[in-house]
Amino acid sequence: MNVHAKNVPEKHFISMGLTPDVTRKRYDVVVSGAGPAGCIAAHLLSRTHSVLLVEEKQAGAAKPCGGLLAQEGILALADIGLEVPASTTELPARLSCRIVDEDHESLEVCLPQTVLNTDRSALNAWFRELVSEQITRLYSFAVIDVQRRGTALDLVLCGASQRYPVNCDYLVVAEGAGSRTRRKLVKSLPPFRTATQVVSPPVRGLESFYMIYSEMITDFYIWVIPKSAHTVVGTGLRRPQGTRQTSVRICHFLRERRGWELSPSEVSRSLLTDFRSETDLWFGDGHILCIGEAAGLVSPSSGEGISYAVRSASMAAKIVLSDGAACDLRDESHGLIEELKDKRRRADLIAQPGQRESYLQLH
Ligand SMILES: Cc1cc2nc3c(=O)[nH]c(=O)nc-3n(C[C@H](O)[C@H](O)[C@H](O)COP(=O)(O)OP(=O)(O)OC[C@H]3O[C@@H](n4cnc5c(N)ncnc54)[C@H](O)[C@@H]3O)c2cc1C
Repeated sequence: MNVHAKNVPEKHFISMGLTPDVTRKRYDVVVSGAGPAGCIAAHLLSRTHSVLLVEEKQAGAAKPCGGLLAQEGILALADIGLEVPASTTELPARLSCRIVDEDHESLEVCLPQTVLNTDRSALNAWFRELVSEQITRLYSFAVIDVQRRGTALDLVLCGASQRYPVNCDYLVVAEGAGSRTRRKLVKSLPPFRTATQVVSPPVRGLESFYMIYSEMITDFYIWVIPKSAHTVVGTGLRRPQGTRQTSVRICHFLRERRGWELSPSEVSRSLLTDFRSETDLWFGDGHILCIGEAAGLVSPSSGEGISYAVRSASMAAKIVLSDGAACDLRDESHGLIEELKDKRRRADLIAQPGQRESYLQLH
């Protein structure tokens, strides 16, 4: 069942009899957030559990993203029997990664691994198609409150300007960066960068994913990604400047240094989690499991988060399926935590122009 609250007059909403259907029931699991993490968790749990998937945006809402899927994400999907459909990929479908150090006479290194170049909107649509019809889906609804009652959970959902109570055994928090539920429960969020991303007409001859380092422009890196019909360019800043100012500076810089003619047709600004240490991570406790970017799982060296969303969703599903008999999500995520710590060390090295040259020459 698909229920949309926004743009549906409240009278209609109530008269459709949707409210009692949704709220009267007690669900085994409520999943909050229908990004990659929430959809994979809902997909895996729906075979054996009653699941309610709640998404605060409308179905089909876009998420600013580079759309690059790391090999770890492809493998994690294969582990649960899924393969990214060709219809979600852009051309070139496989991108090599070129690292450019603009602080050192344009030192350029090509990494051996490639990434899958997807259209994030199409990828999101595919993730949402995985959510079977058995799952009750509520779009334009948000989880706004959680109270524990023994091992049971009482939630409050908000949609169409109304509040609705829902009960469940497990809550999977998959709300992405800035998760409201995480903030409410533990009063802490991981640090963020402010990501500015620009969509521009295609740049001729661009065939790789570029990671460009320049101290003058960013304390992270500039990503440049060729898509079938456009180019995506962006960066994430710890101390944000104006969105327009950042996008103009990046485009001007790339035109000057690399001769790439970029003229932004769309500019977006969003939060990007900036993992600094293990204490930034929160995996939930008891029957509340926090996954994906809401947990703080994003690569500090590249900003890549889709593979972490998929991997943590699989782990959360395993824990719910064993009814908590498997170890808790933090223990289960030990490998991911070590991976993030390693990437943090690399990100810190590469961020220092003095260290960068020798680091890159090792690759
Ligand atoms: C500019 C930019 C570029 C990026 N590029 C890449 C890239 O190329 N490759 C990559 O791997 N990663 C990239 N990332 C990171 C990646 O987009 C995220 O890490 C990934 O989407 C996380 O998935 P998620 O399911 O945890 O969260 P999200 O995809 O953010 O999904 C969370 C969902 O929860 C919903 N929600 C939030 N609060 C509530 C609530 N209270 N109730 C109900 N629903 C709620 C939101 O509307 C959202 O749909 C990029 C991020 C940014 C900002």
